[in-house]
Amino acid sequence: MSADVAIDDWLKGLGYGSSEARSTARVTLEAAGLTRQGKQRLSNEKLARARAVLSEQLYLHCQSAECVQAAAHSGKLSVLCEPKPSCQSCGGSDNQRAAHDFVAAFGRRRLCIVGGSPSVWEELERLFGAQLELRLVDGTQRRTVDHAKADLEWADLVLLWGASELHHKVSMQYTNAGPAQKKKVLHVTRRGIAQLLAAGLEYLRRHSA
Ligand SMILES: [Zn+2]
Repeated sequence: MSADVAIDDWLKGLGYGSSEARSTARVTLEAAGLTRQGKQRLSNEKLARARAVLSEQLYLHCQSAECVQAAAHSGKLSVLCEPKPSCQSCGGSDNQRAAHDFVAAFGRRRLCIVGGSPSVWEELERLFGAQLELRLVDGTQRRTVDHAKADLEWADLVLLWGASELHHKVSMQYTNAGPAQKKKVLHVTRRGIAQLLAAGLEYLRRHSA
């Protein structure tokens, strides 16, 4: 006897929380021959294929404007997710979305962020993973001119995060750089990771245009 799952519950767990979303998913599964009308259960052996069919054809997203847009550009049928963390675009987090957009524009290059706190650094490392090279500088510790110069040479972009824990003596080492390196330095006064990265993204767009 092979085990199976209730299709409705399984779909809810994937983020098809509304009955509308579930019926779209059902129709998709039926069209792929994985189930048929009126059937309540799906055998475990079919789950991987069912999941693949859904992710090939449907784009689950939340209601934020950016995620609606991401779904529209995906070439798939867009379906509103429930709950929000099942959004394929942002995972329910503004930070995630901001990191995603930033990486898409920045690529696998070197980003130096001066300022922030240990918990914020942890979150930044988690968000970016290996998608770009990240150097995090404590804005409360003395940074020698040589260290700052090395950061400026290394990085493709330096974000001076003025809204966070950033001492003037530290930021000065970066703002006093020569004109060639100054172009890489962006002073950001907004709070929050999503806002920091949004400012970085605006800067990238301005400079690539
Ligand atoms: Zn979203």
